[in-house]
Amino acid sequence: MIDEDRLLLEFKTLLTIESPSKREGKLAYYLADLFEALGYSSYFDKSGEHTNSEVGNLIVKIPGKIEAPPLLLCAHLDTVGPWEGIEVIEEEDLFRSNGKTILGADDKAGIAVLVELAKVLRENPLLHAPIEMVFTTCEEIGLLGAKNLDFKLLQAKLGLVLDSEDPTEVINAAPSSYQFNLKIYGKAAHAGLEPEKGINAIKILAQIITNLPTGRLDKETTMNIGKINGGTYVNIVPDLAFVEGEMRSHSEEKLNSLKIEIEKAVKEIVDNYPQKINNLPSYTIDFTSVFNAFYIPEEDPYAKLIKEAGKTLNLEITFKRKEGGSDANIFNTKGIKTFILGTGMQKVHTTEEFIRKKDLILCAKLVLAIVKLYSENFKALS
Ligand SMILES: [Zn+2]
Repeated sequence: MIDEDRLLLEFKTLLTIESPSKREGKLAYYLADLFEALGYSSYFDKSGEHTNSEVGNLIVKIPGKIEAPPLLLCAHLDTVGPWEGIEVIEEEDLFRSNGKTILGADDKAGIAVLVELAKVLRENPLLHAPIEMVFTTCEEIGLLGAKNLDFKLLQAKLGLVLDSEDPTEVINAAPSSYQFNLKIYGKAAHAGLEPEKGINAIKILAQIITNLPTGRLDKETTMNIGKINGGTYVNIVPDLAFVEGEMRSHSEEKLNSLKIEIEKAVKEIVDNYPQKINNLPSYTIDFTSVFNAFYIPEEDPYAKLIKEAGKTLNLEITFKRKEGGSDANIFNTKGIKTFILGTGMQKVHTTEEFIRKKDLILCAKLVLAIVKLYSENFKALS
């Protein structure tokens, strides 16, 4: 049922429509027109007011040919850079960039699959459940589109995000992530004339960083110090130094104890600083949740259905956890049980990005197989 040539052609067209984060308008309107022409209604939510994107998230509703709860399918509109002047090199079995830009298969492969699915559902008498398609903005800059999505527009309780690599590996777990921002306040003084009147914030921060754990802390937890800044002039004792970092774990408990451990390490060093001038040195530390973890066990009926759908294509689906966040973290947090499927894209976020045609086609076939099986078995899932 999947028209392979049509899928590949649409994919190539999508690659040529530039869509960096916040500037997804051209691509979003292209898609809205395309779905309208197929006879499906599309809406933009108001998330653009919060994400500062040119457009909101695009939502397309494909009515069911049976009465059933809808299935959510999602891909993101935006790409990372370098994206200017993308030239698509087509080889016999793959698409790649010319090495100077990304290709943009992340996530236009996912979009192409959804467009093809919409066409297949329209032209075939398949008795399928309703589909809610969501095309998000600003995924690459912190899942901003999904975070500001108007969930009132959706009814689905089960979903798929098309935004991973290997089509036979389905992602059923992803970590929570926090970012932190630590500021150390010292006291400025002339470094040559009266250094004893100053408190060196950079030195205190350096001591703290040395005491913090970084890297892979255990098999499900990582931490990184990613950005550092401070001071103004070389001849002034610096009165401010700050650092930004992040931590991720599949266990919320471990992140909570890590937060406590970090605060304790900071407090200890600042409190025990030998010299005190007017309550200085002091510090502030803020932790911000970036996304929450999710985990869907392989025994879950929805997971079993996905595995079964693979079998109809002679595919052995395996479940895997991911170490990064995606829109699926947000959907799962909002109560929509969502897996991440691979589209075939490889070496994403690099100028060596490529995708094998057979993998993209496989992804489209798997999504269609899941829609079919869901439509036949939705009662067992709700
Ligand atoms: Zn992506």
